[in-house]
Amino acid sequence: MNLWQLFQKLKPFVRPYRLLVIATLILTLIGSLTAQVNALTLQYAVDSINRLVEAGQGLAEGWQILITISAILLGKEIINAFVQFGQKFYGEKLRIFVSQDLAQGIIEKFLTYRLAFFNQDNNQAGKLQTRIDRGIGSLTRLVQIFFIDILPLFTSAIIALGLMYWANFYVGLVASAIVPIYFWLTYKQAQKLGSWRRNLRDGRERKSQGILSIINSITVIKSFNRENIESDKQLKLQKELTDNQMHTRQTSFLFDGLKTFIEQIGIVLIIILTAYFVLDGQMSIGMIMYHVLLFNNVSAPIRSLHRIYDEVNDAMIYSESFFQILEADDEIEASGAQKPAIRGQFNLSGVEFYYPNGHHALKNIEMCIQPNKITALVGLSGAGKSTLISLLDKFYEPQQGSIQLDGVDLKDIDTQYLRDHIGLVLQKNHIFQGSIFDNIRYGKTDATQEEVIQAAQKASIHEQILQLPQGYDSDALMLSGGQQQRIALARMFLKNPPIIFLDEPTASLDAIATEQIKQSLDEIKQGRTVVIISHSLSQIIDADYTYVMKEGAIAEHGEHDTLYHQDGVYKEIFDAMAKSLNIEKIARTFEDDAEEETHS
Ligand code: ADP
Repeated sequence: MNLWQLFQKLKPFVRPYRLLVIATLILTLIGSLTAQVNALTLQYAVDSINRLVEAGQGLAEGWQILITISAILLGKEIINAFVQFGQKFYGEKLRIFVSQDLAQGIIEKFLTYRLAFFNQDNNQAGKLQTRIDRGIGSLTRLVQIFFIDILPLFTSAIIALGLMYWANFYVGLVASAIVPIYFWLTYKQAQKLGSWRRNLRDGRERKSQGILSIINSITVIKSFNRENIESDKQLKLQKELTDNQMHTRQTSFLFDGLKTFIEQIGIVLIIILTAYFVLDGQMSIGMIMYHVLLFNNVSAPIRSLHRIYDEVNDAMIYSESFFQILEADDEIEASGAQKPAIRGQFNLSGVEFYYPNGHHALKNIEMCIQPNKITALVGLSGAGKSTLISLLDKFYEPQQGSIQLDGVDLKDIDTQYLRDHIGLVLQKNHIFQGSIFDNIRYGKTDATQEEVIQAAQKASIHEQILQLPQGYDSDALMLSGGQQQRIALARMFLKNPPIIFLDEPTASLDAIATEQIKQSLDEIKQGRTVVIISHSLSQIIDADYTYVMKEGAIAEHGEHDTLYHQDGVYKEIFDAMAKSLNIEKIARTFEDDAEEETHS
């Protein structure tokens, strides 16, 4: 991306603040004019005083000049103070507003993206966060550089250069000859630093990803005593980063020195040239002062050019990935998305699905999920059951084949409308930062307090919530895994959708909670389409129809009895489950118990 493209992309964000931009530009122009006053005044002062001295006059005649100079310089400083305040304030206001719009814009945009986007390797949480933060940071800095830093300096430089040419063509020529050399050096510097800066960016992203990963797995790290390994990993990243930073600094300082040298040569040349003209009688002595001060105005922006160049380069690197996120236009709903009445019959035919990393997770899936029935998905872990549910919820789209809901292709159904009709309960449900009440109400944002309590009762968590010191206002993140799971169920009871997907909903619950929830689930299952993934025998037996998955494909399907007698994968899994439960011994315990009762 070049600077022009970047400005084109930024334009929509700056456009709403046109008036601020115009105000800043006007102030910039006034500021650039006042910046030349010092040179003019000092030239006038030197020449006038020189004339008085040559004429043998002294303080008595000179005080008028002093008053004039003081008045001009004071007046200029007063105007300048206002101009600078206005310019900085409006520029800053612009920067803050643009930054706010960029931040909100990207959040609104990526909330609409499909899961596939977040699953891409370069979009992991930490990396995404760094890219967004840095993108917004550098883009807003770009706005600031342009309106507060570059523009005033360059306008002032151009006016100063014009005045130098006006005074003497050759002096103007010397002053402007320095400029391209400076630009060239800055360009070379930037070129040398370009790839290092990119590495620096990648290094920073990897570091923040690393820190996030440590925080997320701190329990595992500690339980295995792997603090040293993690610390070494970070040290390696840090070292790479440090090397990179040192190299960048070294190159920067080298070029900075060269540029200062060129600038000083410029000043010396201008002094020599002007002195020559003064001695030759073509100019007054005040012109030496005049030219040196004007040249100062020309070289000031050039001096900060490399900083600006660096920042612009940074902005381009970071904003590239920022706009990649903003323009990923991943989820563009087909226009005229439908909102059909939903009964809940899913038909899948020839469905093939690959994860973004290329993993072939579903193979030629043919399936019919009946409305108002319970369909179970059974299979070893990794068989593709959760993936299938993600497809039914339109989190992903199959690369081949079709998924229809009540005869309408899922692609053509309005995504929000579809998800409004689906309740999804996962093995581990996300609890948001906030109160229990707010977490349950997430299922229906306008629910009343009674509705929330009713939902909590259905999910068998109400009593436990009441026992907490702050009741429904307690922090939901403090609840145990099983309790959080019931909060998630309550959330779904509140939503009350016609289609329910349960992905091992009771896997993290204890036996009593499972039993309580089973009753709640039995209640909610009535008259709805339910797809359940479960490793619980009772839940599988309860299903009306079962699909058995193996390595991404459907191995068998049918009702429990039929499947069991087929002597296939289903029987294998089912027997293994029963064995792991030690059903024989349990049965014997119950028998002994019953015998004892009959004897007594
Ligand atoms: P199940 O629910 O049957 O345990 P999943 O549907 O979760 O299985 O996973 C099916 C396969 O797809 C597994 O091999 C898993 O490693 C892979 N997989 C799951 N999620 C992703 C992902 N986001 N990216 C790449 N591969 C994935």
